[in-house]
Amino acid sequence: MADKFEESIYITKPLSPKKDDIFKLWEEVMDSGWFTNMGKQHNLFEKELLEYLKIENISIFNNGTIALIVALKALNLPLGSEVITTPFTFAATPHTISWNGLKPVFADIDLDTMTLSPKAIEKAITLNTSAILPVHVYGFPCDVEAIDKIAKKHNLKVIYDAAHAFTTEIDGRSICDWGNITMLSFHATKLFNSIEGGALVYSDKKFGNKIYELRNFGIKRIETEEDIKQGIKTRDIISDVGINGKMNEFQAAWGRALLNEIKFEQNKLREIANVYVEHLSCMNEIYIPTIPKNISNSYQYFPIIVRQNDKFSRDNLYDELLKNNVYSRKYFYPLCSDFECYKSLPSSNPLNLSVAHKISNNVLCLPFYSNLGIEKAKKICDIVKDIKK
Ligand SMILES: *Cc1c(COP(=O)(O)O)cnc(C)c1O
Repeated sequence: MADKFEESIYITKPLSPKKDDIFKLWEEVMDSGWFTNMGKQHNLFEKELLEYLKIENISIFNNGTIALIVALKALNLPLGSEVITTPFTFAATPHTISWNGLKPVFADIDLDTMTLSPKAIEKAITLNTSAILPVHVYGFPCDVEAIDKIAKKHNLKVIYDAAHAFTTEIDGRSICDWGNITMLSFHATKLFNSIEGGALVYSDKKFGNKIYELRNFGIKRIETEEDIKQGIKTRDIISDVGINGKMNEFQAAWGRALLNEIKFEQNKLREIANVYVEHLSCMNEIYIPTIPKNISNSYQYFPIIVRQNDKFSRDNLYDELLKNNVYSRKYFYPLCSDFECYKSLPSSNPLNLSVAHKISNNVLCLPFYSNLGIEKAKKICDIVKDIKK
């Protein structure tokens, strides 16, 4: 029998930049006297993210949820229209739909990708549908090509929640290249963080000004020749119902300093993932979802699916790990469609979401961060195997 851990092992540990790097940048910010509102660190962070992710346009935000709220707003969807989304996600996803005065409609997920099923999306489309909001859960990509086709056919907008998918690529192409707008989260618990933070990525440059304005209270950005010709010089024109979504200089600096560490972190995470796969995939009771070879994994989470039998279930595995001081996470359980604020929606009917219920009842995310190290990952595997005995 493996001994229990003396210290608590949590699901993740936030990454920090090197102290020398961040203190130097923070000192620079303090001396500059410019703490927020699209300052030097902010603009450099956006520029460096463009290069890092090999994308065309990005706007950074104070968090991913506000970014997603602004994305939906920027698309000018008819008030009260329906947005199809997955119940197998974090609460923020459906909430951003509701905050825009739109109606979330839940559709089922696919067993193999755990993301929105294209078939279920098509079934959910009505005359009132205006957009689709799929989530690249755990950094595993949605069926982006199929969703693209559906959107074109029905003239719908697509906004991706890529909070888990920082650096995920399909055939070397950024996951942010699909859909009208993609949201990234830089929350402390995510693979890459700016303490709190997020971003919108979009291929169509025309969203840039709209997003810039909505992020900053709707204050119009005066820069077109047309405006200048018309003699509009002040920035006091409010163009739309905006919000405060700005990222401050200290967090932008943190993000910049941390960007250099991500590749190293992902290499370490790959090693830990390999340990889990090597030791757990031989167990009949455990299924480890894998992604196809042409996709680069973000290594944001390590989910396993428990094949329930009389002696072994997800909840029982969770409890036993806890007795050994290992805090795994039932992520995402319960489904968003079971939340008090959404459970009365017609689309929340469990019969409509059978795959999502099945995954949600059997999924468990194992501790996954570089400092865990290979030895502790092996020990977690030993504990799991002991439970079965
Ligand atoms: C973390 C997360 C968000 C919200 O991002 P914040 O930056 O914390 O606001 C949205 N969707 C999913 C799937 C997430 O995991």
